[in-house]
Amino acid sequence: MVKLRAKCVLAGDSTVGKSALVHVFRSESAHFLKNYTLTAGVEVFVNPVPIPDTPDSVELFIFDSSGKEIFYDTVESQWELTAAVCLVYDITNETTFNSCTKWLERVRAQAPSGQLAGVLVGNKTDLACRRAVEYTQAQEWAASQGLEYFETSAKEIENCDAPFQSLARAFHRMYEEKLEHIRSIV
Ligand code: GDP
Ligand code: MG
Repeated sequence: MVKLRAKCVLAGDSTVGKSALVHVFRSESAHFLKNYTLTAGVEVFVNPVPIPDTPDSVELFIFDSSGKEIFYDTVESQWELTAAVCLVYDITNETTFNSCTKWLERVRAQAPSGQLAGVLVGNKTDLACRRAVEYTQAQEWAASQGLEYFETSAKEIENCDAPFQSLARAFHRMYEEKLEHIRSIV
């Protein structure tokens, strides 16, 4: 049985629902451990995620920042050694989708040795009548970046676990591949 720890940052424009999403995810876990409030608008949520079909689990340390430019330096320094990114946009707002390129670049610049598990989340599906970004468009961009794509509604509590479970599984796979690699050279 292995217990891994992974640092996961929530990235995306302001008001897309990053904080709402992590709050829904955490409230569904009976094992939610701690919630640190760091200075300068960064909160860390710790949530253990069991990996299906294994005895293992990944403890996700989810960093949620206010995203305001005023906190820029702090946020950037919190991204050191990031292992996973949950990139969020609002499906009713195309600008927030277009910003994802910029957010992903910033997070990638902070990832150790380029190893980064990532998901793209289109949030606010309860507002589908105002949809501005098509599912396939987002899904294709995500795939081109090596990200899995999910759509969620934090308001209606729909599908909010899935992106984080996917990240935990991807991180676990990265760990197993590293282990395989080490076994193959010793
Ligand atoms: P953040 O700045 O990305 O952390 O966004 P917040 O989590 O603070 O959410 C910004 C606003 O969007 C708040 O008024 C939320 O209530 C609202 N919101 C978040 N998720 C959803 C959603 O899934 N559907 C709808 N309709 N509103 C949402
Ligand atoms: Mg927030």
